Amino acid sequence: MHDAIPTVTLPGGAEVPSLGFGTWMMGENRSTAKAEVDAIRLALDLGMTVIDTAEMYGDGGAERIVGEALKDRREDAFLVTKILPWNASYDGTIKACHTSLDRLGTDHLDLYLLHWRGEHPLDETVAAMEELKTAGRIRAWGVSNFDVEDMEELFSVADGKNCAVNQVLYNLSRRGIEFDLLPWCQEHQIPVMAYSPIEQGRILHHPELVHVAKAYQATPAQVALAFLLEREGVIPIPKTSNLRRLQENRDAVDLDISDEDWSRLDAAFPPPARKMPLEML
Ligand code: NAP
Repeated sequence: MHDAIPTVTLPGGAEVPSLGFGTWMMGENRSTAKAEVDAIRLALDLGMTVIDTAEMYGDGGAERIVGEALKDRREDAFLVTKILPWNASYDGTIKACHTSLDRLGTDHLDLYLLHWRGEHPLDETVAAMEELKTAGRIRAWGVSNFDVEDMEELFSVADGKNCAVNQVLYNLSRRGIEFDLLPWCQEHQIPVMAYSPIEQGRILHHPELVHVAKAYQATPAQVALAFLLEREGVIPIPKTSNLRRLQENRDAVDLDISDEDWSRLDAAFPPPARKMPLEML
């Protein structure tokens, strides 16, 4: 028996599992499409129902794969996609959303994110997001790669406070947000979606992480995910197209790491001592 996946409540009241699923690098190659669809469907079965994609991934290919996976089970997913900043004018946002909806084969998104800041004024993008909400095309909207200054600016524009999440790079080896952005988001009850939660695999051979994982008969990826699951209002969204690794990621929820071992990991992956600019991948 596995522990249930804890939940996080979004500002609008939606309750979502705190462990989601990423799709970057999916939809790029027909030969891997079936494995990708199977992985998304297993993620839903395992309760990792926050499915994160973007118009950018595979140039729309990842959205098509997600659409294929959700064909007969749209309501099982909390569907998130992202708009590229250069499309995020008022009209461009409405148009890009409809294009994404077509590729995803659905009439609504659960969450629509501005992928990163670009040249279009925030108030224009926000106004379009609110219009999409009113029209029933999206249930909520949020941002990605926004640092504290960006969040403050967002909160200063009309309806900017309706932002539902901020999706940023966060993992054991990228802890900069713990200094200010994470506390800011927690204080304003804005969940943080942690992208690249296992640093795209690059931290998995770190000796201290391997050591702690062994002590729990767990894998380094599971410990890296447990580190994020431990934090209030944080939703890691690991990507995998491999069913075994997907099950492994799901089981990270069962880990109960001791304070002593968290201290070992703090020594190996120190938290920030001062402000660090938000990193992006
Ligand atoms: P990630 O989830 O940290 O790592 C994914 C990589 O790790 C893949 O190569 C995957 O390979 C491998 N992997 C997954 N689980 C594993 C495990 N248990 N053991 C060993 N290897 C494992 O990196 P990510 O894809 O960059 O980030 C996750 C999601 O965040 C993305 O897919 C995307 O949805 C989102 N994202 C958003 C932004 C943004 O700007 N908003 C930027 C980057 C990512 P296999 O598939 O072969 O298992």
